[in-house]
Amino acid sequence: MAQHFLLSATSRTLSLKEIYKAGEDKAYAVFCKMRWADTDGEAVCPKCGHDKSYNIKSRRKFECKACKHHFSVTSGTIFASRKMDFTDLLAAICLFVNGSKGMSSVQFSRDLDVQYKTAWVLAHKLREALSNEVHTGEVLDGEVEIDGCYVGGHVRPKNFEIDRVDRRKKANRSNRRRVVVALRERFGRTVPFVTMSESEGVALANENVSRMATMAADEASHWDMLHAGWEVDRINHSEAYSDHGKHTNWVESYFSRLRRMITGQHHHVSPQYLHQYANHAAWLEDNRRNSNGENAFQIVASAMLAPVSRNWKGYWQRKAA
Ligand SMILES: [Zn+2]
Repeated sequence: MAQHFLLSATSRTLSLKEIYKAGEDKAYAVFCKMRWADTDGEAVCPKCGHDKSYNIKSRRKFECKACKHHFSVTSGTIFASRKMDFTDLLAAICLFVNGSKGMSSVQFSRDLDVQYKTAWVLAHKLREALSNEVHTGEVLDGEVEIDGCYVGGHVRPKNFEIDRVDRRKKANRSNRRRVVVALRERFGRTVPFVTMSESEGVALANENVSRMATMAADEASHWDMLHAGWEVDRINHSEAYSDHGKHTNWVESYFSRLRRMITGQHHHVSPQYLHQYANHAAWLEDNRRNSNGENAFQIVASAMLAPVSRNWKGYWQRKAA
């Protein structure tokens, strides 16, 4: 049997050792090259688009020769007002892509030797940046599988039997339960959404799947609606998981990763942030066969394209105010 990709040397092209050995200037150059890919790392003014600037090297700042605007490599990106060194930031991204089932913020903070809250916000910024690669707005095509996965809202049964309630009843359920509905192309992209019920997936398919596609779904009755728009392969999981090419194994693999991420790394996730973890797992799934170096540079590139985060910029300052 061929060696598994993740065990091969080609899957490892970047290491912490390498990042720290190369030093701060090299790490800084990586960010410049990713931010200004068209000019091979030469600064372009974010305000007026002029490509000539004075380089204030001591402060790693630029002054635009046309409009005199002062800016840095991270101005206007998700890393705006960063305090971490570029080596630490690159190391953080390396650790982040190495965690194939995600990474808890506690572990992240220990590995990076930063405060928990710093690690938490950084991880969420990285998830926000990679979400732009997951949600591109392009419709899915070919063979597209759909399914849902319930996350959160566990109601712990009371200790004494007499105190226990019927947890199947709606009134006794938690209002924190959500469904991640995922659409996944075989050999292609994975696009997850957070909803209140699995049946909302039909409307999501209408918006995100090409009419030329063939869909695949399990036996749940709400998927019957899909037949109005597509040719749909159905597989009854109480009979078989795969039958003559009819299956939902691709989307199930995605849920497998998401569940392991949530139970193994995060333990509990708030409904408010569930979409971030769902996107992170989708990104890991879609990039699982790339080397860790490729993935790290991809994240740097996405972060350099991602605008200043509305959710995470000044997060703790805002809380304190
Ligand atoms: Zn300018």
